[in-house]
Amino acid sequence: MASATQPTVEGISIALLDRPPVNSLGHALRVQIASVIEAANDAPEIRVIVLVGAGQVFSGGADIREFGTPASTAEPTVRTLIGMIESSSKPVIAAIEGFALGGGLELALACHFRVATREAKIALPEVKLGLMPGAGGTQRLPRLIGAETALNMIMTGQTLGAVELEESGLFDALIDGDLIQGVVAFAAEVAAGKREAILARNRAVVLDNADAYFEYARRSLASSTRQSEAPLKCIDAVAAAVGKPYDDTLERKAFFELVTSPVSRALRHRFQAERACSKIADLPPGTATHAVEQVGVIGAGTMGAGIAMAMLDAGIQVLLMDQRRDALERGIEAIRGNYGRSLAKGKVSAEQVEQRLNLLRGVLDYQDLAGVDLVIEAVFEDMAVKESVFSTLDAVMKPGAILASNTSTLDLDQIAAFTKRPQDVVGLHFFSPANVMRLLEVVRGRQTGDAVLATVMQLAKRIGKIAVVSGVCDGFIGNRMFGHYTRVAGLLVEEGASPQQVDRALEAWGMSMGPFRMGDMAGLDIVLAVRSRHYKTHPEWKFPRSLDRLCELGRLGQKTGKGWYRYASGQRVALADPEVDALLDEYRREQGIAPRLMSDEEIVQRCIFALVNEASALLEEGIAQRASDVDVVALNGYAFPAHRGGPLFYAQEQGLYSVVRAMKQFGDQSGDTFWKPSPLLVGLAEAQSSFSSIGATP
Ligand code: NAD
Repeated sequence: MASATQPTVEGISIALLDRPPVNSLGHALRVQIASVIEAANDAPEIRVIVLVGAGQVFSGGADIREFGTPASTAEPTVRTLIGMIESSSKPVIAAIEGFALGGGLELALACHFRVATREAKIALPEVKLGLMPGAGGTQRLPRLIGAETALNMIMTGQTLGAVELEESGLFDALIDGDLIQGVVAFAAEVAAGKREAILARNRAVVLDNADAYFEYARRSLASSTRQSEAPLKCIDAVAAAVGKPYDDTLERKAFFELVTSPVSRALRHRFQAERACSKIADLPPGTATHAVEQVGVIGAGTMGAGIAMAMLDAGIQVLLMDQRRDALERGIEAIRGNYGRSLAKGKVSAEQVEQRLNLLRGVLDYQDLAGVDLVIEAVFEDMAVKESVFSTLDAVMKPGAILASNTSTLDLDQIAAFTKRPQDVVGLHFFSPANVMRLLEVVRGRQTGDAVLATVMQLAKRIGKIAVVSGVCDGFIGNRMFGHYTRVAGLLVEEGASPQQVDRALEAWGMSMGPFRMGDMAGLDIVLAVRSRHYKTHPEWKFPRSLDRLCELGRLGQKTGKGWYRYASGQRVALADPEVDALLDEYRREQGIAPRLMSDEEIVQRCIFALVNEASALLEEGIAQRASDVDVVALNGYAFPAHRGGPLFYAQEQGLYSVVRAMKQFGDQSGDTFWKPSPLLVGLAEAQSSFSSIGATP
């Protein structure tokens, strides 16, 4: 890291913000910037100071890893730097390219002048982490671009291009071509006294009918953002700027409240966790990767079509293959239909749709796939079918091609053993709909090669997925832990709760859909198929067999109009069904279960702690690399509420000691041996340690 005064341009001191990858304003960089500003102020020959980012990026903002640590408040803070800029006897120019985000933008807002390349982007995205700007952003931005545009940016965290703000008054010049050349020319004008500087803090912000406007903004806050206090505090802070002299007291107070709030801590955890999961501890940095230009997808069903679209959306050529012509045609029609709907909604242009469809070709023969770089199998979930597919692929595919399976439950090592190239086999477990869901579980087989793993991780990024590496086990990370969540929910119902109560309790807690509504949507026959396997593999677990009864009665969920709920024809609204209540009553009688009342709190604890216990086992077995990976899976694959940070983050927040105690109690109450707390969890609780101490931490 370095921040240098470059003496090449006479009279100009250039402070280089150099802290790869995004020049975040960690303590060491702040020290450097301060020293450049001080030195420039002391040097009589310097007339102007320029702040510019290294690596074609101005600054990504605060270093959120510092939050809550002494480094975040160590001087000079961003606020102190801003004070130094504003009181500098030499004008300071921010020269922005790439992006200026959060604290990076706040630094620029405090400068005497701002110039940017036309492609530069800016944002105050703090609200997305349950925060708000804390270094004067809510006070300076409205003074520069007006209260309405500023509020919109601050409340939503939206990114805007410099060009969109060309007329706003934010930039003193937009620069075509080389930024340094442009800013040097601009600085020469400043040095020659041709430009007058008015600091943002000395400008006024006016807005007609301000009270009514801010009241409207408060009312319009979407319910989805209600978990976080941040948007409301943003509105209050911007409102406080209107018609008044500069004062950031309210902003500072609100910022400090938010920074310590559980919601912001959880959102920050998620942010860091999603960045950490792409790192694989034992994969040497710089591991070579294969080029992936053409992808084959086998099976044009629900998943195959979605996976194909995920590739097409990223501009990758796809050969979609099915053994049956009608299935292939249906799959291609599904893709066309999907793009048609996106076009109608204005999400894509006709040109983009055409480009994507031009990259797609349907084929019926394995031979046609022989030359692709990667093939992803999404055929029926049946080991015999997988065997026939993988032995054929082994025979036809070019050497070095990556052979991937989208299996959700089957043993990847066994699949790899159907080939003579197990090092080229990997699991790519997409979630449905595969072109929409961001999570991808990358299943690393016992023999999966490093280059193969590195290649698919890179591809995941290219197609916009968040990839989490999982070892081989039944259900991998996500389905394995959520299998217990659903099982425990079923037991709660048998003990006396109703499906509606369980769903309502978990939805009120933040899950987007309770387990019974979810089961009805997925199809109870699918849930039972997985469960039935567990009847044999894990006879020691306690199973809610009422599920079998529903399936025997043909109640398979939404697709049959009845499941845990009933559905009016063609509707997806889950309606309580007295027939299910009667079925459960009878089942309890038969089993000798005396139904009891239970609180919503108990329901939530049992279901969520089921995730926690299994997640802990996944870590212990090395299936998941790190605790935060498990959280990423729950958050992105299963709609676990973002403001709770994931099962293991949540457990940590509850206190592991109490979590262990609760599990023991659940075990005593239910007789389910699953509730023996995982030894890892017990160990951490006893040592008063934390899950983040396991594996590579974010
Ligand atoms: P699907 O039944 O919709 O589609 C399977 C397709 O594969 C059919 O079009 C079929 O004609 C074709 N097929 C079958 N055998 C074939 C063969 N030997 N060669 C070529 N084509 C063949 O199934 P799906 O829901 O898309 O699931 C596919 C795979 O994805 C399964 O392994 C499943 O476990 C996994 N998966 C499914 C989901 C989901 O939510 N549906 C999620 C993740 C993973």
